[in-house]
Amino acid sequence: MIIKSSFTKSLINFLLPPQCPLCQEIVTEPHTVCGICWPKLKFITIPKCSICSVPLENVDRDMPCTDCLRYPPVFSRAYAPLVYNDSIKKLILRYKNYDGLHLGPMFFSWMRHHIPENVDVIIPVPLHWKRFFTRQYNQANEIGKLLAKHAKIPINPNILKRQKATASQGHKNKLSRYENLKDAFLVDKYKNTLSKTNVLLIDDVLTSGATANACAQTLLDAGAAKIDVLTIARAVKETHGKS
Ligand SMILES: [Zn+2]
Ligand SMILES: [Zn+2]
Repeated sequence: MIIKSSFTKSLINFLLPPQCPLCQEIVTEPHTVCGICWPKLKFITIPKCSICSVPLENVDRDMPCTDCLRYPPVFSRAYAPLVYNDSIKKLILRYKNYDGLHLGPMFFSWMRHHIPENVDVIIPVPLHWKRFFTRQYNQANEIGKLLAKHAKIPINPNILKRQKATASQGHKNKLSRYENLKDAFLVDKYKNTLSKTNVLLIDDVLTSGATANACAQTLLDAGAAKIDVLTIARAVKETHGKS
C-alpha cells in the first residue's frame, strides 16, 4: 500500500507538479513559495511588541507597543509569523475567497512554531452563517484543525458563535470598529466547558485587534481564564512601533 501511495504521489507530482502560489513557477516541494517570492514574505522577528507582536523599531528587545500600553487588549497575547503585506494578502484572499484551501498546510507550517504553552482548547473566529453558507468553509477553522492535530489540543468550532453579520471593518476607525462588533459574538450552550480554560483563538489576520478583542471578551465573560490569539499575519500601521 505504501508503495502504491508513494507511486500515486509521484504520479500526481509528475502530472500536476507543485507550483509557487504567488508566481505559479514549478517548485520542488509542495506547500511552499519559490526562492524568488520567498523574500517578499516578511517574517516577524525580534524586537516586536510583547503583547500584539507588531514589529518595533529603535528598541533592543520585545516590549509593549504604545498602542497596547494606551489601549491594553482584552486578550493576553497575539502571535503571528508574518507581517501583513501585499504578498501574504494575495495568498490569504485566495485562501478565503477562491477555493484556495490547499494553501492551509503552508500557513500551518509557519504558524505551528507560535503555539503558546498550556492551551486547553483551540477556537476559530467564527463566520456568520450567511458567509459560511456562501464560502462553504471557515478558513480559521481549517487552519485550527491542522494546529490542533499537530499540538494534540482539542478544537471546538461550536463554542463561539457570530450572531451579527458585521460590515467590513476596513474603513472604520478604532471606536466604530468596537461599536460595530459589540454583541457580535455569543457563547451559548458550551459555557460549562469553558470554565477556567486557556483558549487559543485562531484567525487569518490581526488588523486593529477589534475582532480578537470582541471574541476574547465574550469568551472571558463566559468563564474562560485566558485568551491568546494566533493569526497568519499581523497588519502594521505605517507609523506603528516607531518612537
Ligand atoms: Zn514564486
Ligand atoms: Zn502591541
